[in-house]
Amino acid sequence: MRQSQLFTKTSKNVPADETARNAQLLIQAGYVHKEMAGVYSYLPLGLAVAENIKQIVREEMNAIGGQELIMSSLQSRETWEKTDRWSDEIVDIWFKSKLKNGTEVGLAWSHEEAIIQMMKNHLSSYKDLPANVYQFQTKLRNELRAKSGVMRGREFVMKDMYSCSLDADQHEDFYQKSIEAYHRVFSRLGIGEETFLTVASGGAFTEFSHEFQTICEAGEDAVYLSRDKKIAVNEEVFTDEVVDKLGLKRDELERVKTAEVGNIFNFDTIKSKEMDFKYTNEAGESQFVHLGSYGIGITRLIGVLVEKFADKKGLVWPANIAPYQVYLASLGIESKIIETAKELYEFLQSKNINVLYDDRDIRPGQKFADADLTGIPCRVVISEKSLGKGGFEFQKRTEENAEIITKDELIKRLAK
Ligand code: ATP
Ligand code: MG
Repeated sequence: MRQSQLFTKTSKNVPADETARNAQLLIQAGYVHKEMAGVYSYLPLGLAVAENIKQIVREEMNAIGGQELIMSSLQSRETWEKTDRWSDEIVDIWFKSKLKNGTEVGLAWSHEEAIIQMMKNHLSSYKDLPANVYQFQTKLRNELRAKSGVMRGREFVMKDMYSCSLDADQHEDFYQKSIEAYHRVFSRLGIGEETFLTVASGGAFTEFSHEFQTICEAGEDAVYLSRDKKIAVNEEVFTDEVVDKLGLKRDELERVKTAEVGNIFNFDTIKSKEMDFKYTNEAGESQFVHLGSYGIGITRLIGVLVEKFADKKGLVWPANIAPYQVYLASLGIESKIIETAKELYEFLQSKNINVLYDDRDIRPGQKFADADLTGIPCRVVISEKSLGKGGFEFQKRTEENAEIITKDELIKRLAK
């Protein structure tokens, strides 16, 4: 992409109405647009980041047998009444509306009930199980507070997966596989070392559930952590009894601020009983399906990656998440410089390397500031100085100094 063609503009000014660092930077760099508190639109650069994250999640969900689908955003009252979750007293984040004929509809804050209702039409025999489905969908939640930028939206993208299993063993097998898949997702996103499987409240379903909590100052949660054992306990359930039950010791444990990037729930057969979701086993008997639910906050993850990796100059993206791998700038208007830059731009694209080519006729300082703010992993500069020294100026976003290297060396490094 030529930067002169990219419609989004960067801004030097920190948005006055935004307190969260992640949203400030994403807005300044033109990744997102704030519609209102907790509601953000994703512009081309932001969308590219979201898609890169989704692709990693998609690959890992497919690898454990997930089948992708997409559910509707409008939901029926009847579906949610079956589990007593239509009422605003019980679920306090509903957005609701009415059809012209007066029929009430809900705007999806979750798809648990809707997916089960849909799956009932397809699964009826033991031969149909297990079945695991997932989607990337926008959730709408009337959250009380929205002060954490894209980390807590009133409209946000979640990956939600649901497992339907024959029995507790089959459920447990998939549950463990999903824990491993989640670890792979977070390590591919560059936050594996800092993301911990966390014992959390099981709500109405089980004693405990599992969350994936990433160490993050801007997060809204806190956990007690054992780094050696790679396990954490959410502050919400942190009692002597729980500490004992896990073979942990209170005074080994360190309290850290975290952001919940994912969670997994075992519904056992509680929900299938409420929704009458049964299958016929080999002996011809009717059995309730064992259900599980597995979330990952896609847009929250964008915020977490910003909070963890950004520095005082701007965004910093891991290479596999960045909207472009290379930021290429030509300095000056001499034809030699422009021609060399254009050639390199075309060559890199032919090698499937994504390049943002800053071909704008603006001051070098402004280009460098934008390159830093935008957070693209590698910066390549072509100027009279670089050409005089026989090549291309190369600098990683995370490094302090630039080097002048030859084209061959440059290609070698970018291929990495
Ligand atoms: P939280 O405790 O942070 O409100 P939750 O328990 O409501 O999260 P789920 O409803 O299970 O979470 O959603 C699954 C995942 O979606 C969460 O682990 C989190 O990463 C993400 N998520 C939840 N609420 C939001 C939100 N308002 N904005 C962005 N991401 C969210
Ligand atoms: Mg919530």
